Amino acid sequence: MRLGLYGGTFDPIHSGHCHLIQQLLERGIVDELVVVPVGNPWMKKTEPQASGHDRLRMVELAVEGLPSDIRARVRASDTEIHRAGETYTIDTVLEIKKARPEADVVLIMGSDAFSSIGKWHRSAELLSLVEVFVVAREGVGFDIDALTISSTMAREKIAAHEDVSNELPESVWSYIQERNLYASK
Ligand code: ATP
Ligand code: MG
Repeated sequence: MRLGLYGGTFDPIHSGHCHLIQQLLERGIVDELVVVPVGNPWMKKTEPQASGHDRLRMVELAVEGLPSDIRARVRASDTEIHRAGETYTIDTVLEIKKARPEADVVLIMGSDAFSSIGKWHRSAELLSLVEVFVVAREGVGFDIDALTISSTMAREKIAAHEDVSNELPESVWSYIQERNLYASK
């Protein structure tokens, strides 16, 4: 059983993330996927704009909007947003391996995230525990054509009152409007 671990800020989750999630399962790159919004992303220069609660809720809404055969194999996890202190992927991997000892954990990340993996907390140990699946961004990947969408782009468009229907799942956009998120940059 190949269990994908897909972490990110998801501030907010967007259609590029959803496209990737769908491809991973459709192509059998993983059998199941856990999507984990990060609590305190110590590697990023700026704090997430939306709260952990809101980012998790948007991930849940996006997962609910996936086709039913895909949705059944994806779940959103609150483990990192509830963890005190800085968030380290190694802690999440160890947690998953304890709960699901039969699973091979596959760490999913974009090429931008992968380029700094050597600096991650206990990176050598982390890399010894997982298989890494890297998706090329801003260009054509070997396995998955990443959509050229980022959360930054989505946040900027929202603040500028531009149309984001290509960038965001409908339910996520409704949630953002209800909660008045990302109204300013
Ligand atoms: P920001 O613009 O705020 O940096 P982002 O769009 O890069 O946000 P993250 O939450 O940082 O989103 O990304 C989480 C993970 O998803 C990272 O591994 C990142 O490389 C990957 N990712 C982000 N956007 C895409 C995309 N369009 N296609 C494939 N992977 C993506
Ligand atoms: Mg990014």
